[in-house]
Amino acid sequence: MMGEKIVILGAGESGKGTAILAKKKGFQVFVSDQGSISQPTKNLFDRLEVEWEENTHTLSKMKDAQYIMKSPGISQAIPLVQSLEAFDIPVVSEIEFASKYTNATLIGITGSNGKTTTAMLTYQILNDAGFDVTLAGNIGKSFAKEVAENDSQFYVLEISSFQLDNIVNFSPHIGVITNITPDHLDRYNDDFGQYLKSKLCINENQTERDFLLFNGDDPELNTAVQNIITDSQLHQFGFQNKNTNTTYIENDHIVIETQKNKTMIDTMEFSLKGRHNLLNAMAASTVAHLLEVSKETIRESLLNFKGAPHRLEPVLKIQNIRYINDSKATNVNAVYFALESMSAPTVWIVGGVDKGNDYGMLYPLVREKVKAIICLGVDNQKIIDAFQPITDLMVETQSMKEAVLIANKIAQKNENVLLSPGCASFDLFQNYEDRGNQFKQAVKEL
Ligand code: ADP
Repeated sequence: MMGEKIVILGAGESGKGTAILAKKKGFQVFVSDQGSISQPTKNLFDRLEVEWEENTHTLSKMKDAQYIMKSPGISQAIPLVQSLEAFDIPVVSEIEFASKYTNATLIGITGSNGKTTTAMLTYQILNDAGFDVTLAGNIGKSFAKEVAENDSQFYVLEISSFQLDNIVNFSPHIGVITNITPDHLDRYNDDFGQYLKSKLCINENQTERDFLLFNGDDPELNTAVQNIITDSQLHQFGFQNKNTNTTYIENDHIVIETQKNKTMIDTMEFSLKGRHNLLNAMAASTVAHLLEVSKETIRESLLNFKGAPHRLEPVLKIQNIRYINDSKATNVNAVYFALESMSAPTVWIVGGVDKGNDYGMLYPLVREKVKAIICLGVDNQKIIDAFQPITDLMVETQSMKEAVLIANKIAQKNENVLLSPGCASFDLFQNYEDRGNQFKQAVKEL
């Protein structure tokens, strides 16, 4: 007898991982990609005996499926997905499908900014503490593939809102929301409320044994969390509130207060810089504390953590000018924290594909810290309109090399050159890594 059928939309990391897991679980699998599929991926599908198609979606081959797994890059709004929903076939995401097939304890980290850093920190602490733990999700490794090939007792999952849009039963034991600021509004009908709601789905199936950690300094998130009806245990982190079920900073210590106890972790030698990274460290430490990791282990791991590339990454110091790569800053909130952490006059390289940015929140910081703005994008008009009135020097450029050369001319001793684009990268680059790597290369060639 034929097994149940799953249709996988998209042949990227989550598509491949889901195909591997589904095949192992006896599903009949059909992968469909609107674009072209790479040769190694086709080889994988052929080896797995998975049927696939590229450059099209054939609806008639999907109608008999029990599940549709939609990759996070595909919009809910496309006609194909709408038609499939009209047939009453559940459209689920990879985390939903994969979580059915593991008994592991799940830690799910979502939010607009800081997901990767917080997930990496959390993973590092748990790994240092000797847990059998895997880091997966948005960050690179497919969760489904790990469940199929290398299941472990704990997963730290970096989860985007697109993954949360299509869950049914998925429920992390500990959910973390790092913050919520406007991003990807193009995929949510320009509706901040819808985007907020999709992030809160992380809590949808949590029970009284589970925890929801959230950034209490984020006013909209705080209000939204206080208004949800949930049995799960709420715990906030941030600089503003000092109560039970709160993690805060006092005298250079992270203080974690729960119903049961109060723990203090020294942050004096913590190597990551910036207030936002303290927030990330507070979140990661709280997860570890709830899983009963000792404060000594937490402190050691925080000291040794070097940060992820393209996130406020120091590149080089040339003639006493510091070059900093923050290519991963693809929205205004990330730029805010980058500028906030600059302690010297800064030449700021900004621009790319605007996802509906409102630059207003940056004005005070730009006035205070930015010496010149170098626009790096195909269309820079919005940035010029926003900052011309408050900036002495603005220059338009069309390549990373040009941008870095000009920045090098403008910046003087003891100043910074910061790439923190506040926009997506695909007008001039393949992705944010390519943009960051080109920046580093151009700086090295100075
Ligand atoms: P994500 O995975 O959510 O995109 P990253 O950890 O990759 O988050 O960081 C993305 C950008 O946001 C970087 O520019 C980084 O410096 C900045 N950032 C990191 N943590 C935070 C935070 N808690 N709040 C705001 N910005 C942050």
